[in-house]
Amino acid sequence: MCNRYKKPSKPEEEITVETIRKLPPMYFTNITGGEPFIREDLADIVRELYKKSDRIVISTNGFFTDRIIALCNEFPNVGIRISIEGLEETNNAIRGLDDGFNKGYETLKKLVETNHPDVGFGMTVQDANAHDLVSLYKLSDEMNMEFATASLHNSFYFVEAKNIIKDRPMVAQSFENLINELLKSNSPKKWFRAYFNHGLINYIYGQKRLLPCDMAFDTFFIDPYGDVMPCNGTKEKEVMGNLVTDDWDTLWNSEQAEKVRAKVRNCDRQCWMIGSVSPAMKKYIWVPAAWVVKHKFLRYFKDKKYSMYENKICRDLRDGKVTKEELDALSTCDLNAVASDGLKQI
Ligand code: SF4
Repeated sequence: MCNRYKKPSKPEEEITVETIRKLPPMYFTNITGGEPFIREDLADIVRELYKKSDRIVISTNGFFTDRIIALCNEFPNVGIRISIEGLEETNNAIRGLDDGFNKGYETLKKLVETNHPDVGFGMTVQDANAHDLVSLYKLSDEMNMEFATASLHNSFYFVEAKNIIKDRPMVAQSFENLINELLKSNSPKKWFRAYFNHGLINYIYGQKRLLPCDMAFDTFFIDPYGDVMPCNGTKEKEVMGNLVTDDWDTLWNSEQAEKVRAKVRNCDRQCWMIGSVSPAMKKYIWVPAAWVVKHKFLRYFKDKKYSMYENKICRDLRDGKVTKEELDALSTCDLNAVASDGLKQI
């Protein structure tokens, strides 16, 4: 799970709109937390970001319903993804909140009622909720909402080093079912989502990413202190520079930024999160496009278009050629590690 909320930044140390003004032009921005709507100046931040960014999506737990609705009224194009970890019982058990599902779901329903165009669920798939994956997708589909998936990762940002999928075939089976649902649809966006979920199966089996990771080259992550990093997936915080003290061009072209890029080129964490995969899917579009053509069109008349056993590693585990323990060793889970919280300014 993500423990970011247990290690919050101090509001008085967080970046202000002045620092946000220094950001370069961007084609996409995701605002995430913790919980972004805790910041009472979020509307000012979004207003400033819209001068830089073509598209903005905010990930939230959906608790601050009034603030979310007010923001969406002011910014009709902003995307809202509410993290829901399964159907009611599963979500509340995972999140430890008695009314968590209903709060998030009510916010989503209100947004749908107001015809807000870019609304959806975000679900982090794991052993405890994989059985709800397709049901939650169908619920979002009925409400005409987006459905974003992820799986467990470990990093300084998540303040976690022990996340791991225990029953890989069971979780992969749920992804397979979702992929087949997505491929059945008439939406090209969903066919490409199917490819993303195919990559999640590959990821939970500890395999090499299906696409190169180019974080720090054309994409970056900025934290509440203004520290600019390649991503939020590294084990320790890897800082390219600080936007509070530097201007963007100095930071981006610095020696320190080059050192971090060299580390990215040798990074072996094999993350498969939308932040690093979405730009890669656009950049290497022919790879997911060929996968979509094969699964959507060449298997047009087949009821089941995708099987997890297309992946050699799934067959190898099934056939006893590789053990669960060997796959565990390929993951980023480190049971002896003390997770870095990334809060120390460097
Ligand atoms: S694989 Fe990419 S996104 Fe993951 S930690 Fe490495 S550089 Fe970051």
